[in-house]
Amino acid sequence: MTATSPLPDVRPVIAIHGGAGTLSRAAISGQQVEDYQQALRDILHAASAVLARGGSAVDAVCLAVRMLEDCPLFNAGHGAVFTADETHELDAAVMEGTGLAAGAVAGVSRIRHPIDAARAVMRHGQHVLMAGAGAEAMAREAGLSMVEPDHFSTDARRQQLRAARARQAGAVLDHDGAAAMGASGTLPAPPLAEDSKMGTVGAVALDAWGHLAAATSTGGMTNKRPGRVGDSPLIGAGTYADDRSAAVSCTGHGEAFIRVAAAHDVCARMAYGGASLQAAAEAVVHRALPAVGGTGGLIAVDRLGNVCLPFNTEGMYRGLARPGSAPETFIFR
Ligand code: ASP
Repeated sequence: MTATSPLPDVRPVIAIHGGAGTLSRAAISGQQVEDYQQALRDILHAASAVLARGGSAVDAVCLAVRMLEDCPLFNAGHGAVFTADETHELDAAVMEGTGLAAGAVAGVSRIRHPIDAARAVMRHGQHVLMAGAGAEAMAREAGLSMVEPDHFSTDARRQQLRAARARQAGAVLDHDGAAAMGASGTLPAPPLAEDSKMGTVGAVALDAWGHLAAATSTGGMTNKRPGRVGDSPLIGAGTYADDRSAAVSCTGHGEAFIRVAAAHDVCARMAYGGASLQAAAEAVVHRALPAVGGTGGLIAVDRLGNVCLPFNTEGMYRGLARPGSAPETFIFR
């Protein structure tokens, strides 16, 4: 059922993440921690203002993810990690809890804001997931901002790829890669180790109308094989929203999140088993994922405005904001 006026007992809220991973606490300065926290706070501020004005959850999560895509600190959009071929292949998805509308793009390298393309797929309604050149053609037709692939490149990510290659690592999670860079002394290490950090970004929100939405965007994993698609753009794996249960956005080793259908599993435990948001989210992150070797975390909000931000790594860039209250941000446990 669609609400036609704001529901009096609903407390809107938005939560965001910027990836999870191992820590390089020893190597980080207070300034670096502050840079990450400030970026998260600015984004929460802007997105919670959308909710405060009575805007929709989907508008709030798309704005948050767009801003995270533009911020080079995070592995999505500008600042995305490199594939083994030193290219970028970006994935994104968005889902509305009302009517289960969803859209996603995979393996794109010319759309400035992949989350906008995911939303265009959702709005168009004919398909749910578009990949590669076809997704880019659709984005062009929708009038989205297109860029050359090197728009996404940064020196830090190039060094991260080299560090991964030097260690002959397979595909590595973004925030674990950077710790390796810090350790090798080539760059100052950010708070989470960039080689093992899952660098995806995401947002989940509940609006004043009682509707939920989730959005996720990523460059994937450093040194991934070209053509590899992770969990982020897969509805039910890295992204899911259902007004009857919760909105969920994941970050971590995508293959494991795909195998356990992580985002949908949170909603299913609530819908079928009557689990609370916290019990459902923690069961997925601390039991279902570790059972298949999955590391990472997720952010989730339910239809009552409860928020849960669990992870099984040492840290996850994360935060939440409710209109009228100051944003809260966290990196470590
Ligand atoms: N889940 C993403 C993927 O596997 C990576 C990440 O979260 O950093 O593509």
